[in-house]
Amino acid sequence: MKHNTHIYLAAKGIEFLYEGLQNLHYVTTHKSAEPATISKTRLKGKVLQQLLMHYEDMITEASWAPDDILNDKSQYHTFKLFTEAEFPGGASLAKETYRDKYYRVSGGGGLPYKVDHLARVISDMNKLRTYNDRCSMNQIMYQFLMISHYVVDAHVPMHCDIRDDPPSDTDKVKPRNGKYYSEGLHGTIEQLWEDAVTPVAVEEEIIKVCRLHDAAPMQELSQKIRFDVTNKQHCNEIIPNIIPDDDLMGYMIDLCIQTKERSLQLFPVDNPAEWNKEIFPKMTRDIFAQAISNLISIWIWIWCQNKE
Ligand SMILES: [Zn+2]
Repeated sequence: MKHNTHIYLAAKGIEFLYEGLQNLHYVTTHKSAEPATISKTRLKGKVLQQLLMHYEDMITEASWAPDDILNDKSQYHTFKLFTEAEFPGGASLAKETYRDKYYRVSGGGGLPYKVDHLARVISDMNKLRTYNDRCSMNQIMYQFLMISHYVVDAHVPMHCDIRDDPPSDTDKVKPRNGKYYSEGLHGTIEQLWEDAVTPVAVEEEIIKVCRLHDAAPMQELSQKIRFDVTNKQHCNEIIPNIIPDDDLMGYMIDLCIQTKERSLQLFPVDNPAEWNKEIFPKMTRDIFAQAISNLISIWIWIWCQNKE
C-alpha cells in the first residue's frame, strides 16, 4: 500500500476499535465470541482506543516508517507464495512449504515472522512499563501505530504472490515453468487505491494536505474504501478475531495464504497480466474491511498479553 492508504487504514483501525469488537469472532470455529468475552474485550479496547487517539499525531510518521525510515521492504513487507497450479513442478525449488501446498523460495520475504516478533516485543515493552517504567506509553503507542504497516501490507495480493517478482536472467531460485505478471501492475493497483483514499482522507482530515497530488478528486472506487463508524452497516463489516496467545505466527501465515488466494483471482494463472477488473471493486472493499478488522485483532492480542 502507498503512503496515504497506510495512514488512512491505521486511523480507521483506531476509529473502529470499540465498535468493531462488538463482532469479535473465534478464528478456529468462525463462531461469535460469548457476550461476556465481548464486553470484557471491548472495555480493554476502549482504553486502548483512547490511548491511540491521545497519540494519534504520530500516525503519519509511524504508519509509514517501515517503508521510509526503516526501509525493510524486501525483507519483511512480503511473503511471496506459489503453488503447483501456477508453476507445475515448482515444488522442488521450495525452501518452505505451508499447509501442504503453498511454497516459498529463499528470499521470499518474512512478513508473518516480523509481525509475530514485533507484536511480542511491543507486549514485552508494555509488561516492562508496568514493572519498572523503563518503556514509556509514548514509545509503546508509536510501535502500535508502526506495526499497522506490516499488518496492512499482508492484505495486498501482490505482496503474497511470487508472480509479482519475475526472476532475473541469472536467478536460479525462482520457478520458471509458469507466468509472472509485470512489476508495473503492483504500482498500478496500489495507485488506484491511493487515488480512491486520498480525497476521503483529506475530507475526513485524516491526512494533512502537504503535496500537490493531495488535491486528488473523488474516484468511483472511493465509495468502496469509505468506512464510517456511525454507519451500522459499515460496523457490521468489521469482524476482528480472537487470536490464540501462542499462535499469532500461524494466524499471520493463514492470512498471507488467504491473500495469495485473492491474488490468484485477481491475476488469472493463464494470463496474469490481464488482471480481473470486474472483481476489483468488491475485492477492494473486502481487503480494506479485513485490514481494519485485523489491525484491531492484532492490537487487541498485543494489549491483552499484559494480564495486569
Ligand atoms: Zn510496505
